[in-house]
Amino acid sequence: MKKYLADRTSLIDASGIRKVFNLAATMKDPINFSIGQPDFDVPEALKQVAIDAIKHGKNKYTQTAGEPVLCEKIARLVTKEIGWQNPAVLFASGVSGGLLLAFMSLINPGDEVIIPDPYFVMYKHLVNLLGGKCVFVDTYPDFGLHPERIAEKITDKTKIIVINSPCNPTGAVYSEEELKAVAETAAKNDTLILSDEIYDKFCYDGPYTSIASIYPNTILMKGFSKSYAMTGWRLAYVAASAHLKPIIDEMTKIQQYTFVCAPAPFQQAAIAALDYDISELISGYKTKRDLLYAGMKDKFEFNKPAGAFYSFIKAPNGKSTEFVEKAIKNNVLIIPGSVFSEKDTHFRLCFTTTNDKIQKGTEILNKLA
Ligand code: PMP
Repeated sequence: MKKYLADRTSLIDASGIRKVFNLAATMKDPINFSIGQPDFDVPEALKQVAIDAIKHGKNKYTQTAGEPVLCEKIARLVTKEIGWQNPAVLFASGVSGGLLLAFMSLINPGDEVIIPDPYFVMYKHLVNLLGGKCVFVDTYPDFGLHPERIAEKITDKTKIIVINSPCNPTGAVYSEEELKAVAETAAKNDTLILSDEIYDKFCYDGPYTSIASIYPNTILMKGFSKSYAMTGWRLAYVAASAHLKPIIDEMTKIQQYTFVCAPAPFQQAAIAALDYDISELISGYKTKRDLLYAGMKDKFEFNKPAGAFYSFIKAPNGKSTEFVEKAIKNNVLIIPGSVFSEKDTHFRLCFTTTNDKIQKGTEILNKLA
């Protein structure tokens, strides 16, 4: 087979997460703390908008950058939230799509991308796929942003610093001071920041700060997958200050020859979603976060997650894979930290399940600790 495959396929390794899913397939009704997507369904009103869009023929290609009405609405929102006048906007097939387009537009072989560790897996694999070099910044044990450690990693090859707040897998939400310090480093070295804010709505202890409102050379990404439980609908937007429009234009050019456009009828639902209030759903998630924290804090070492729907928890004796295997044997599905990190000392627990399962799951994990 090797003679058929392109060399770049060997730059990606999916074995860590695949192992967990293979094990999961053998389990009967597991307590599933692995999923990484909301347990609620798309709100009915938004489903109806998508159904109506299909019925009314909104089924053809849209403009590459997205439906103009949608892009204009997003531009107004970005101006309000971030302060950028006439921002450049691209509607993408999920933040995943946006990330691929951004990295394809920005990374030359050998370019360095600074990624706080632990990290969302896709960053590492896409950067590697494109011949870039991941430069990881260890944020253990508190999972703050550690701007001084980021500053130490800057070289003349640094192209991008990736910031993901609220963070998958740690649940950290970075403070304004931390973000300002990173922005200073980026400004000093003329580095771009890519800010993945897909969990922006999932903040439990107050509003979050977007680094885009601090640092103008930021490529901002926000998604609909998590906020409205539309992971299968593939909707997200990328925005940048007007002076970075040439970057968004290049990304749009690549979208034209790859994704073409985000799914057309669902773009109509995205227009409606921008006005849809999900605060009640978020407060339900805060309850889950609190349940999880109360259930685990006595036996495990970890921070109370301030955002997203994950906690990143130290495994007993710092041996994550061993503990994950034990948990799975006891019908509780969690993911070893090595999937999201260069270390294997912690595990990720996603609390998007019923309150009852959270209670049962934490009881089992406590017994195993
Ligand atoms: N960024 C982060 C941090 C994520 O956790 C995810 C999904 N797990 C994505 C991006 C991709 O989301 P989507 O492509 O569905 O928008």
